Amino acid sequence: MNVLKNIDSIRKDFPILNTSINGNKLIYLDNAATSQTPNCVINSISDYYKNLNSNIHRGVHSLSQMATEKYEDTRKKFKSHFNAKSSSEIIFTSGTTHSINLVSSGFSKFLNIDDEIIVSQLEHHSNIVPWQMLCEKTGAKMKVIPMNNIGELDLNEFSKMLSAKTKVVFVNHVSNALGTVNDIEEIIRLSHSVGAAVLIDGAQAVPHFNVDVTKLDVDFYVCSAHKFCGPTGVGILYGKEEWLNKLPPYQGGGEMIDEVSFEKTTYSELPNKFEAGTPNIAGVIASGIALDYINNIGLGNIKDYEDHLLNYATEKLLEIEGLKIYGESKDKTSVISFNIKNIHPYDIGSLIDNLGIAVRTGHHCAQPIMDFFNIPGTIRVSFCFYNTTGEIDTLVDALKKASTMLS
Ligand SMILES: *Cc1c(COP(=O)(O)O)cnc(C)c1O
Repeated sequence: MNVLKNIDSIRKDFPILNTSINGNKLIYLDNAATSQTPNCVINSISDYYKNLNSNIHRGVHSLSQMATEKYEDTRKKFKSHFNAKSSSEIIFTSGTTHSINLVSSGFSKFLNIDDEIIVSQLEHHSNIVPWQMLCEKTGAKMKVIPMNNIGELDLNEFSKMLSAKTKVVFVNHVSNALGTVNDIEEIIRLSHSVGAAVLIDGAQAVPHFNVDVTKLDVDFYVCSAHKFCGPTGVGILYGKEEWLNKLPPYQGGGEMIDEVSFEKTTYSELPNKFEAGTPNIAGVIASGIALDYINNIGLGNIKDYEDHLLNYATEKLLEIEGLKIYGESKDKTSVISFNIKNIHPYDIGSLIDNLGIAVRTGHHCAQPIMDFFNIPGTIRVSFCFYNTTGEIDTLVDALKKASTMLS
């Protein structure tokens, strides 16, 4: 299917798509940074504060019980969406970054100076830095899976790096900077063959296709709601129950305890052990509404349509003289990173912003990738299912003009 049948009505669900920026209708092509929010999600947040606001898990009163039920129902939604074995394996956090820090800091319990951990060259900073901090703390060494010229990881090299010393491997499912879809099935299989745990950063995968954590046999899988049409400040951490039981709590506070005294505190069972303090209740519930929303359109339809946008845009962009695309993996999501001649990405980004076109410029929180290509950054366009080929045409015209003006 090339076109979502109901694209016009889908676009009407997103009020921001009707706004003007610098006197022009907004063309939003920065979906890999954050996606836009449909009315049902916006309404869910205001509805919560109008009708349900109370603290969860602790009140005897009806309002608290109603809020608790919605919050826990949302956990069940994510459990079934990701096909986890139990709802206790779903932890709500504030985002991908928080989820990764929760896991990486817990691993200090398991690592010592002789151990190794493995990252890929394709990572977002939030899947690099927390693990570097872990290395500083434990003395463990970090190895890096290299990538090739088209932005694919070299799994041959990876298999040579693995050994009994390898304790954990952390790789993204999809690169936010290049759009590469990594062969995580193979990465997980190889890692498990030496007994290493695997964390997959799924921030750029969950918005675009179905993820089945049981089939993948992954140990940890993390994502952010704001990348799949949910609000900011909500993340989902899936962890295998056996791992979450072994991992120490990340933060101490209310909700995560069983009994507290000054002599000794015992911790709650999963999932509360990892949800200290009052969570983002309205945000979590609204994230469940966002999940329903994308499932209603259907992730299969979304993938087909976004692939169509990706192919259409790739072809049109390559018509621009001097345009070079970075990241040409066979398997890509709807992300295109490029430069035009030697023009600085920022200059092009600012010029087309004047025309209401929102793109990202810079290193996209992935400096090692830019170093690999020996460039300061790229222009990145990233599509969501509400984008259209008409918007891509406008983008291409604008880029042609900008390129002429700046070269
Ligand atoms: C956006 C993103 C993150 C960080 O997500 P936050 O919501 O900012 O915590 C991490 N990894 C990838 C691949 C991302 O795209």
